[in-house]
Amino acid sequence: MDEATLRRTGLVWHESYMWHITGTGAGAHPAGGFMEPGLPHIDNPAARRRMRNLIEVSGLIDHLAPVRPRPATEEELLRIHTPDYIARLKRLSAEGGGEAGEKAPVGPGSWEIAQLAAGGCLVAADAIMGGTLRNAYALVRPPGHHAEPGQGRGFCLLANAALTIAHLRALHGLRRIALVDWDVHHGNGAQGIFYEDPEVLTISLHEEDNYPRGSGFITERGRGLGFGANINLPLPPGSGHGAYLAAIEHVVLPALGRFAPEMILVSSGYDACLYDPLARQMAMMETYRLMTRALVSIAGRTCNGRLLVLHEGGYSDFYAPLCGLAVVEELSGYRTAVQDPFVSHLDRSAQRLQPHQAEVITAVGKLIEDVPRPGSTSTRRANVRKLHVEALRPGQA
Ligand SMILES: [Zn+2]
Repeated sequence: MDEATLRRTGLVWHESYMWHITGTGAGAHPAGGFMEPGLPHIDNPAARRRMRNLIEVSGLIDHLAPVRPRPATEEELLRIHTPDYIARLKRLSAEGGGEAGEKAPVGPGSWEIAQLAAGGCLVAADAIMGGTLRNAYALVRPPGHHAEPGQGRGFCLLANAALTIAHLRALHGLRRIALVDWDVHHGNGAQGIFYEDPEVLTISLHEEDNYPRGSGFITERGRGLGFGANINLPLPPGSGHGAYLAAIEHVVLPALGRFAPEMILVSSGYDACLYDPLARQMAMMETYRLMTRALVSIAGRTCNGRLLVLHEGGYSDFYAPLCGLAVVEELSGYRTAVQDPFVSHLDRSAQRLQPHQAEVITAVGKLIEDVPRPGSTSTRRANVRKLHVEALRPGQA
């Protein structure tokens, strides 16, 4: 990498990401029955492509370093996914398409595209660790935060963030990594994968009980050694600018400060924005800007600025690109001339933090005292061993 790209913000992008075909449908439903075909599936390329175009037209692209993705290898994918699932994904893709799980459409060639999406995240992580990039944005598709080891879910095929965490550990020797997920849906994939791991802090901000149904509750806090290292903040529908910033201030930043990660990943979905058809939250371009600014700042203080943002959902074709632009602007420190043209139409009072939203944020803030501090893992291991030994002793209640 030459001097000009040194320590810039990287942008992962490949045209192939837009060639992952999800079929036609109505909203999140496939066409068929009484659903007239003809509309694109809701997880189509438009919002991501328009975001990439806006990065170019606004001039921001001149301040970024392009990151050329490579396909993730099967060995890298097997760190998280099962051999059966990998084989199934390959077969579906080669046969022209199908369903890789629950609401996880596969098109012809989707396997190779998903490999390239996951691999793009790995390349960006390598460049940050190698010091050639300051931080990076992976504008990848298909997304990953709902994907589980043995199946795809919610438009996600491969668990991009979890695969990156596994890669950072295997290749760069990192131990403590934090993942902040502000996609409006619950980050069930990483939660499940790292549920018993005290050295991966997973924090998910999402709309209460939206998707997947029945997951993402406050009480899901990790298990065994991992207890306390999983935080769910299920925000009530209608949460906007005030609620999201309060969540960052009172939950995300203190949790990250206590955990002291060696690198921070963000699963960034734009479906928490107020024009999204799949959720009922009200975040604005400015909300995403300030959330990112806060994370850039804490990454600078805790982990040498190491921050990798991964693109997840976001289905407002006209508004998600603006929110995404603000995120990349904040990562790069370069502000373009783009302004939010929609903001004057909004009811600003509805964006204020409401008491019922503050109540949830306060309740979750109390859980931070259980976030594992550095060095606490060996103590935890000893305590768990002690409990096991005591449980095996005869004659005890
Ligand atoms: Zn989402």
